[in-house]
Amino acid sequence: QREHTATVRPVVSATPAQLASVAVGRPVRGEFTYLVPEALGDKLAPGQRVLVPFGRGMALGFYLGPANAPVEGGVRLKPIQRVLEDSPSLPKDLIALLRFTAEHYRYPLGEVIRGALPPGLSTAVDEKEAKPDIQFFVEALVTEVPPQLARAPAQAAVLQYLLAVGGRAPLDEVTHAIPGARETLKKLATRKFVKWVEVTLQAGVREGLVQNRPDRLTPEQALAVKELQGAVDAGGFQPYLLHGVTGSGKTEVYLRAVEHTLARGLGSLVLVPEIALTPQLVGRFRSRFGGDVAVLHSGLKDRERLFHWQALRKGTVKIAVGVRSAVFAPVEHLGLIVVDEEHDPSFKQDEKLRYQARDLAVVRGKQAGAVVVLGSATPSLETLQNTRSGRYKLVELKNRVDDRPMPTINLVDLRVERPREGQVTEEAPILSPQMLQAMEETVAKGQQVILFLNRRGHSTILLCEVCGLSLKCHDCDVCMTHHRSQNRVVCHYCGVAFPVPDRCRECTGPLLKLGIGTERVEAEVLERMPHARVARLDRDSATSAEKLTELLASFARRELDVLVGTQMVAKGHDFPGVTLVCVVMADTSLAIPDFRAAERTFHLLTQVAGRAGRGKDPGRVLVQTYNPDAEPVKRVLAHDFDGFSKQELEWRKALAYPPFARMAAVRLEGEHPEQTAGVARFLGNLVGRHMPPASAGVRLLGPALAPIARIRGKTRWQLLLKAPTHAALAPLLARLEAALPDVPNGVKVVIDVDPGAM
Ligand code: ADP
Ligand code: ZN
Repeated sequence: QREHTATVRPVVSATPAQLASVAVGRPVRGEFTYLVPEALGDKLAPGQRVLVPFGRGMALGFYLGPANAPVEGGVRLKPIQRVLEDSPSLPKDLIALLRFTAEHYRYPLGEVIRGALPPGLSTAVDEKEAKPDIQFFVEALVTEVPPQLARAPAQAAVLQYLLAVGGRAPLDEVTHAIPGARETLKKLATRKFVKWVEVTLQAGVREGLVQNRPDRLTPEQALAVKELQGAVDAGGFQPYLLHGVTGSGKTEVYLRAVEHTLARGLGSLVLVPEIALTPQLVGRFRSRFGGDVAVLHSGLKDRERLFHWQALRKGTVKIAVGVRSAVFAPVEHLGLIVVDEEHDPSFKQDEKLRYQARDLAVVRGKQAGAVVVLGSATPSLETLQNTRSGRYKLVELKNRVDDRPMPTINLVDLRVERPREGQVTEEAPILSPQMLQAMEETVAKGQQVILFLNRRGHSTILLCEVCGLSLKCHDCDVCMTHHRSQNRVVCHYCGVAFPVPDRCRECTGPLLKLGIGTERVEAEVLERMPHARVARLDRDSATSAEKLTELLASFARRELDVLVGTQMVAKGHDFPGVTLVCVVMADTSLAIPDFRAAERTFHLLTQVAGRAGRGKDPGRVLVQTYNPDAEPVKRVLAHDFDGFSKQELEWRKALAYPPFARMAAVRLEGEHPEQTAGVARFLGNLVGRHMPPASAGVRLLGPALAPIARIRGKTRWQLLLKAPTHAALAPLLARLEAALPDVPNGVKVVIDVDPGAM
């Protein structure tokens, strides 16, 4: 163990009261024991940033509390050098969460803490206050974009953004979302379309805000709100699953619960999947709570992060709304945690500290004694199982707001209903006659259409007609995707791109373009419906936050009839004009080698279908598929979440997959295939030697090549561990971790606890 080994002068016998446990902000495991110099004795408080001698120099440390384990055998301890701040940056309940995180996800505690802190606090500098609690906001003075701005697209876009996020937003946020917005805002201010507001956060800024709070809740909403408010009043940890069908008004339930929590003087933490994709949601929180909300997204500047952290820490701001990393936000007196769209894969971080924010939200709720609400129309099977076993309480919203009907869902069996041949010049058509007709009808009525296909690009496979080889990336084990708009083929894993070859690399045979992407769907819609206004929403078209916001806003303003897109169109959007949702191919995610493939397919299809019929006109959904008998497809058609999850849970139980088992993946990546395989075997043997008796139910799958065996020229291997409980896995993970320093430099090994995608 590379625990603290100090070499400084011996110290007179230390009593435990004078010892401090410190996490050092370096990539080293464990907590370290330091001496508390007498002069610091009464200045130390848990959560403070301190300066400590470490190795040959000084390091930033975090004082976590007195060290209780007396040091054995006269190890010489070093003293804490200095305290960097009077009031601790880390609140007590957060220390517990950070400790859990480091332990559970096998990551150095000091690094976990540094990652949670804003950059201004994660280096060994003395406390510096963010500017006083004053922030510049801009506020719209109009409720829609005035016609005068028709010829000033930049001004219109900025104003549109502001309106989309609730009519008022911090200046820094707008200028981040839209580069150059500062100048544009000045022009808008001169024309009296916006004004600047200087906001002192303590005072709150609720006056003058758009409230748009519905007068009446639906009966189901009212029951749900009453239950959650009661739980907040009762105090203490209570997890809930809020299972509400799409369009049932879950957000209003969250808002009321947060409102109530705020009225009790307690703090709330709201986690959402992706803020840029759902500006409406943030807008609703901001317009309801104004300066009581800190919005934490990945685009914040360092200064803003520090500002929000300190405001939350001081309790001047009591609500944090943010993406997964906000689970570490220092909300004071936490009364309520909400995780919206709790099934969403974006809550899992897949680099560095590989954590699942939804799971940590529950842990934090337990440690802080808070109510936790996990909300979704398609709960994850993990959460569902926790509800079935009685650990979580279930609150349901089975009906849409205003008793709007759920959309009708119909199937187009592509094996029978082949799209008419010969209509599209280059390739075989994709859209069946039924789908085209439904689209025509909808657009003719002035309503809107969403077309969903979870693959971007034009063709996803270029296959040689003669030798049958498909065009692969040089460095990755995947096919190149043809992007016709760029006239290039692109690898979606490493990003390499080159001009489209006319012929096969191997035999110079002609290349067939197979496998459809959103770009090709868009081209076909444009060709078949020349009168329709069509746009595409995927990572190729929404290259900046500005473009994304503008696309979503212009669809919301009904300047577009048809929106073609990837899973970006399936998120929680609320477009009342959409009455038809078309799933171009339901099969794309079925074949992925992942035990969650069926669940993911079911979620995606249900979520995208849920975009239809949210306004006054009823919605319908058409699903094209080659696999009409596939379980998730059938169940989505029947709106049968219960049936699907019941069957899927049985299958998971039979094969011992989560939620009936805990997993950990050991992922290897190496320059040299032989060496990487060697390390994989070595780790496999290591696990094999330390396997508990069979009765413990621990299983090792692999080592095996990863499903994509090569990315960026690196060979990838993996080992999967399964066990009935995390406790059964932990000792093996500790063994693996201890062996990692012996792994040669050319091979990178990471341990991924509770992995998301395989
Ligand atoms: P979900 O998140 O469950 O899909 P939303 O929260 O987006 O649903 O609500 C769907 C729509 O219904 C939104 O436009 C919302 O403003 C509206 N809505 C929610 N609750 C009410 C209510 N009590 N009265 C009127 N409209 C409501
Ligand atoms: Zn590649």
